[in-house]
Amino acid sequence: MSDLLIGGAEAPALGALASPVTVIEAGTTCRDVDELFRADEHLGCLAVHGGAPHRRLGLVSRARFQHLMSGRLGYGRLLNARRPVSELTDWSPLVVHADTGVAEVARQVLDRSWSQRFSEVLVRDPGAPLRQVSVTDVFRALSGELANKALTDALTGLANREHFMQRLEQCCAEPDVQHRLALVYVDLDGFKALNDGHGHGVGDQVLQVVADRLRGCFRSDDLVARLGGDEFAAIAQLPAGVPVAPAARHLGERVRACLSGTISLGPLVLPGRASIGMAVAGSVLADGEVLLREADSAMYRAKAVGGGRVELITSVGTTAPQENFTPDRRELQRAVDGGEFLVHYQPIVEASTGRLASVEALVRWQHPRRGLLAPGAFLEAVTDAGFAANLDLHVLEVALAQFSRWRHGLGRAAPRAVNVNVSVQGLLHPGLAPTVLDALSRAGLDPAVLRVELPEAATTAQLDVAGGALETLRDAGVRLTLDDLGAGASTLHHLTGLTLDGVKIDRRFVAGLLDDERDAAVVAMLLELAHTTGIAVTAEGVENRSQLEALQRMARGRPTFVQGYLISRPVAAEQLALPWSDGLHHLHPQVPAPRSAAPAAPGPLASR
Ligand code: C2E
Ligand code: MG
Ligand code: MG
Repeated sequence: MSDLLIGGAEAPALGALASPVTVIEAGTTCRDVDELFRADEHLGCLAVHGGAPHRRLGLVSRARFQHLMSGRLGYGRLLNARRPVSELTDWSPLVVHADTGVAEVARQVLDRSWSQRFSEVLVRDPGAPLRQVSVTDVFRALSGELANKALTDALTGLANREHFMQRLEQCCAEPDVQHRLALVYVDLDGFKALNDGHGHGVGDQVLQVVADRLRGCFRSDDLVARLGGDEFAAIAQLPAGVPVAPAARHLGERVRACLSGTISLGPLVLPGRASIGMAVAGSVLADGEVLLREADSAMYRAKAVGGGRVELITSVGTTAPQENFTPDRRELQRAVDGGEFLVHYQPIVEASTGRLASVEALVRWQHPRRGLLAPGAFLEAVTDAGFAANLDLHVLEVALAQFSRWRHGLGRAAPRAVNVNVSVQGLLHPGLAPTVLDALSRAGLDPAVLRVELPEAATTAQLDVAGGALETLRDAGVRLTLDDLGAGASTLHHLTGLTLDGVKIDRRFVAGLLDDERDAAVVAMLLELAHTTGIAVTAEGVENRSQLEALQRMARGRPTFVQGYLISRPVAAEQLALPWSDGLHHLHPQVPAPRSAAPAAPGPLASR
């Protein structure tokens, strides 16, 4: 066994494993010893007392004794029966103090000769009778300890991330109908400043205090973990029969209260404060990562509004049945007013450098009963209620306000543009141009920062109706991008009939790029078309490095943009890794790492 394993393990002391051993005198005959072993099949060994003048301590192990008593030719018993056991005793057994750690004992066992390696270890403890431990028990304890250590956070003794993820997967794979799975995500407020100001020693002590407090506020069958740094999480079970939001909030508040007492470390008195995000699984949750992500983004929301509070998302993973989901305009307006429509952002980057060009605003509905819904789950209902234009405007306002915050907070390191989708109803709304320009001016933004994504689903006739409004917007400086190019039938019409600044290749073609010649041909054709007509082109749905590399090859150095899970999923504003500094260099070795301190130079998209 390597030193690395044994040396690093904090195994228990051997005394904890020891059991009593019978001591016999050295003069006992081998026949009597044989009888003792025959009479008790669980008797593994006997200690042998050598008596004066040497007062030696020896050991007779069952296996070795019986081997000698049989003898090579089967006459051992006949030869040895009358001899004193001292002649078959191992007079140099391994004897250790009860305080010796299991890891150290294992090391000593392995240092012994092969014939002695499997004998019991004798355990001495002043004032107590002699005891023994089998080598099997020594190594079993050691392996348990090592397994434990691999799943434990060394600083706090809580579960580590790996243990946490294992349990989470297990809980999702075997849902418990009596309970709802709740994930609590905790991030300490002001920990970095504390660490910087008082040093890592103090930081570590604070983490230990927090770990103890968290241990105290969950039940023993919940799992509390330190995920890393100052981030902790817990998996808890809420009773299924009670209203979920109040129960979850109650738990969240208990955790907040638990962590909010001051922390005294000698003369230092430090504030205890944390941002807490909670996500409660819906009835059909199958993906622990989704739950963790939602709890994480709830935690970020808590942090974004000043910290020291609990934010909650319920029914994560519940797929809303489309039937019976017919919210009317009043309900939708209430949801807008109640802040239930959230906007997530997905980066759009230059394919060759990974530099951030823009972010696309994508709406989500944090529905009080159905949980967090993706647009696919509600846009149709919103359209049926005739509310799509209102929702477009709401998303536009939220996205512009966020963009303006980035501008003020990050200066030139902020995204250079923001893409906002418009629905067919929004497109046809007579107030389209003035509404958009008014929103821009209220946000104090130059129209050139906004890219309106036009739905490919719009018919040519609908785009004709909107033609005047689109021209007005374009004249004011707003950029127009045709979304999901290739997804519908009227693509080429749209391309020739509209004055566009950009197009986005539908992600279905990108998905088939590597395996389907026709998809690859469509992507090549659309890239060619965009490049020759001077329109900025974005490939959507880039999920892996091979797709990115294929697109880079096809682009042949001409300005091309990519968007997709490979770069980032759509995330809440606070979770977007801004300022964007790592680009694609970690994904693609040929791409040089951007100089993170320098503001991103304007890319081709921005110059159009
Ligand atoms: P879209 O405008 O084409 O947005 C891109 C969609 O592709 C998003 O789905 C995004 O999450 C998804 N996506 C991005 N990268 C990848 C990837 O690598 N792989 C895969 N499989 N998917 C990826 P999302 O957010 O579900 O939005 C769906 C559609 O809903 C959007 O398609 C857009 O048409 C519509 N939508 C979203 N937000 C709004 C909005 O505020 N207003 C309007 N009118 N429509 C919106
Ligand atoms: Mg879009
Ligand atoms: Mg699209």
